[in-house]
Amino acid sequence: MTLTHPSQKRAVALAVAACALLLLPFWAADQYQLHLAALIAVYWVLIAGLNLVVGYTGQLSIGHVGLLSIGSYAFCILVGKWGLDAYTSTAVAGMLGGLCGLALGLPSLRLPGFYFAMATMAFALIVNEIILAQVDLTGGGIGLMGPLYPEPFDSPVGFYYLALLVSAFVTLLTWNLARSMWGRGLMAVRDNPVTAQSVGVPVFRAKLVVFVFSGVTAGVSGALFASLQSYITPETFVFDLSMFFFVCIIIGGRGSILGPLLGTVVLTALPEMVASLAKLGNFFYGLLLLLVVLLIPEGIGRMLEKVYEKFRPRKQQSVAITPELGRLESAIVAATAVAGHPDARNPGAALRAIDISKQFGGLVALDDVSITLTPGRVHGLIGPNGSGKTTMLNMLCGYYQPTKGTVNFRHKDIGNAPVQERARMGIARTFQKPRLVPDLTVLENVMLGAWQHSRAGFVDAAFGLPSVRAEDMRIRERATELLCGVGLGAVMHWRANLLDHAQQRFLEIARGLALGPQYILLDEPAGGLTGVEIDQLGTVIRTIRKAGVGVLLVEHHTDFVFRVCDDVTALNVGRMIRHGSPAEVRHDPEVIRVYLGA
Ligand code: ADP
Ligand code: MG
Repeated sequence: MTLTHPSQKRAVALAVAACALLLLPFWAADQYQLHLAALIAVYWVLIAGLNLVVGYTGQLSIGHVGLLSIGSYAFCILVGKWGLDAYTSTAVAGMLGGLCGLALGLPSLRLPGFYFAMATMAFALIVNEIILAQVDLTGGGIGLMGPLYPEPFDSPVGFYYLALLVSAFVTLLTWNLARSMWGRGLMAVRDNPVTAQSVGVPVFRAKLVVFVFSGVTAGVSGALFASLQSYITPETFVFDLSMFFFVCIIIGGRGSILGPLLGTVVLTALPEMVASLAKLGNFFYGLLLLLVVLLIPEGIGRMLEKVYEKFRPRKQQSVAITPELGRLESAIVAATAVAGHPDARNPGAALRAIDISKQFGGLVALDDVSITLTPGRVHGLIGPNGSGKTTMLNMLCGYYQPTKGTVNFRHKDIGNAPVQERARMGIARTFQKPRLVPDLTVLENVMLGAWQHSRAGFVDAAFGLPSVRAEDMRIRERATELLCGVGLGAVMHWRANLLDHAQQRFLEIARGLALGPQYILLDEPAGGLTGVEIDQLGTVIRTIRKAGVGVLLVEHHTDFVFRVCDDVTALNVGRMIRHGSPAEVRHDPEVIRVYLGA
């Protein structure tokens, strides 16, 4: 039998690994090796959760040892002092870890990276001080006994199996999450928060939910850790341990589960097995980190992937864009139907900027400008560089608040609605400089656009419920149709960072359309495109219009604008100089003088 499908190969690899792990106690040379294997499993319970925070969401928490020690002490106190049973106590330790994660994350996750890292470090130090001070409860510097789990988990072999079971379960949860809408949203938060917002990902809430989840796994890991160590003191939870967790993930690589898992195994086992390395202590970790950052900055996980890809037949490198317009139109209609905007094609659904002014300090970027978009029409916005075109676009989709004036959608003032909310209302956009999530595939980037069509909660996604998978399949199918529609079907499974500039522009349009929008705002989509590609862009925009979506086209290629637009507004240094049909604007003396030239 030959295994051709990657999922078959993965299943076999998984089965082999599972057998090896299950049989480990039979060939472990001594108790100590078994202890080490259990320790790796216990650490991994924490690191698997932390990996979602650090590797997927890009939040540099270096204080997880604080959450670990909270879990450990909770377990020892509940079982040892209050006589609660070990399983309930483990669950309580997890909940407590989650609550502390919430209490720490709420104020600190809004801070920029460096300050967030400092906040988590401070948290770990404070927890340790509190434990030291609460002598009656925690035994202060003397510490507490770590109780055993009941039969059959009270022996070293039994405990190993328990730890293995819990770590396999946590791995499964994070695996499901990483493959779900959440995984894609989290990577967007990490690489491009502005993009994440533009498709409706609630950036702060996503960070918080993941952080709380990592608090729960840290708490559970703490309970297991206390039992394994059989005695804990505040010195068990030194800050080095926190750095160790962090380093395991960095060495393993961002956005991977296997990488950090290997990182954990190697970094835990090596210094214990090779005595000379243990003597080097932190020096060894530091050296390894340095080597990895210098030699394989993407980590072990991605390096293995690259080796694997070497053995696959190479795809042809440059692939032309070939839009399929019929397919595109039905895909847009399908996406808008799912988004459920009731009054598409209804002129009452106008999106209007009314008497907008915007000042940046002393600079007036927009001065009393109004424009009205209607479904199924293409509205061009032209003007010299710096005339306020992008600023107007940002005003319509909520990145900037107007200094004066309002934004009106379906006769309602939406001036205060944040970006995500406007994405939900059906306002999509692209960026002047394409903003993709480089680590996701082309298809996944488009699926990200459909974030709001996913009803899957975090817990549902973690458990990989069939309804969640079915929904993800439907989103995948619609995204595939859109991608083929705009002409990127051939590069669908490429990593997005392999795309050339034109392909990136078309991908952004597909991502915007995946929202099922009523309006799509395009910021210089023809910038950097060849003549042929601009023509293709024209056909794509006409198809979008035909499907009933309203388009704002900010563009410098005026010929192109006059060809595809129904209405045009010309700006100059923040002021509107002419509004009308393409013919009217094109022949306006003022527009010719300041922009088009004779
Ligand atoms: P355009 O897209 O027409 O080239 P923009 O809307 O990007 O022009 O910019 C209009 C003016 O506003 C420019 O002078 C620009 O420097 C200024 N501007 C835009 N965004 C900001 C900002 N966030 N802070 C300060 N000035 C800005
Ligand atoms: Mg601009």
